[in-house]
Amino acid sequence: MTTTLVTDVGLLVTGAYGELPRREVSLVIEDGVIAGIDIDHPAPDQVIDAAGLTVIPGLVDGHVHPTFGEWTPAQNSIGWVHNYLHGGTTTMVSAGELHVPGLPFDDLTPDLVISLAITAKHTTGRVRPSGVKAHCGTLLLVPGLTEGDFDRLVEHNIHQLKFIFYDWNRLGDGEAQRYVEWAHERGMVVKQHSGGVSRSGSSKVAGYDVVSAVGPDVVAHISGGPIPMPAEEIRQVIDGLPEAAVEVCSSMNYRATMDTTAHLSVTGGLDRLTLGTDTPGGTGVIPRGMLRNICFLSSVCGLDPADAVAAATGNTALLHGLDVGVIAVGRPADLVFLGPVTGSAATDGLESFALGDLPGISMVLVDGEPLVTGRSEQTPPTRRPARITHPGR
Ligand SMILES: [Zn+2]
Repeated sequence: MTTTLVTDVGLLVTGAYGELPRREVSLVIEDGVIAGIDIDHPAPDQVIDAAGLTVIPGLVDGHVHPTFGEWTPAQNSIGWVHNYLHGGTTTMVSAGELHVPGLPFDDLTPDLVISLAITAKHTTGRVRPSGVKAHCGTLLLVPGLTEGDFDRLVEHNIHQLKFIFYDWNRLGDGEAQRYVEWAHERGMVVKQHSGGVSRSGSSKVAGYDVVSAVGPDVVAHISGGPIPMPAEEIRQVIDGLPEAAVEVCSSMNYRATMDTTAHLSVTGGLDRLTLGTDTPGGTGVIPRGMLRNICFLSSVCGLDPADAVAAATGNTALLHGLDVGVIAVGRPADLVFLGPVTGSAATDGLESFALGDLPGISMVLVDGEPLVTGRSEQTPPTRRPARITHPGR
């Protein structure tokens, strides 16, 4: 067994919605899993001196568009997953592998979308690009799927489904609602593109009427991806679908995000808030996208920064049935060590978010393995770095 003791954690943000941050704690990690919080260990194999930094769970980007491994044709770039890891993202959930060159958006057949999801699941989804837990293989829902197709997807361990190119003129025939039923009978999660048309030009417009008729588990990028539904309809969706998760993405319309979070706050629904970047895509490749989302929600939209962190971690993981996103005994030790950058007026990571200052990242662990050490390649350095020592050597 490998044991790591993490000392001098200045502030621990667990990622569980509503849980208060804790000051001055230590952590014990055994074989990649959190074994204790605020306890000591007499003979660890490894000690990480957190140098008073803030420790949060690895960020969970709930809306990415992978293609193959580190390559994205959306911005014709390589290495995006590695760069996102350096922005603190340790888990990502695909919202569809729809950037594959040549994909005929207006002529998608059941055979094609099923093949695409299975291919993604057993290629990029089989390995961990740059160590990131990338959940790939999300089925793009099209007309003509059978219940047997849903069984086949489950056999391939595919649990994410997405309405984006589905023709809503068919809404009256009950097929979309049947898909949601079949999905729920199999524990699958249905995400629905909402708002106006996206970069592809082929996604379908979905306002309150369409979203409420379908009843998805996640209303994708409710505040814009990139064009949101009207503000009044956003409030109707939040009120009319109380069970649905409400997603905000980096592709957002900023004003609509302020409306969304204000309405979630007054209706006590911030535990429904889930975050993603909706990248790579027309919005770009944004390694610091999840950090910037937390900054925007905390500094402009008035959210408690711990709640914004929960939206970026625990809420999103819970929605997708993942064991990550929360720092608790028995959970994987996916951790981000961050703090204010030299020159910032902030004194800790949460204050940095509250001021809208992008924090620096010093270290990132995935399953207890330090994958980013010393400092991130994507953020400015923290004032003091976290350091690893091996007492027994
Ligand atoms: Zn998207």
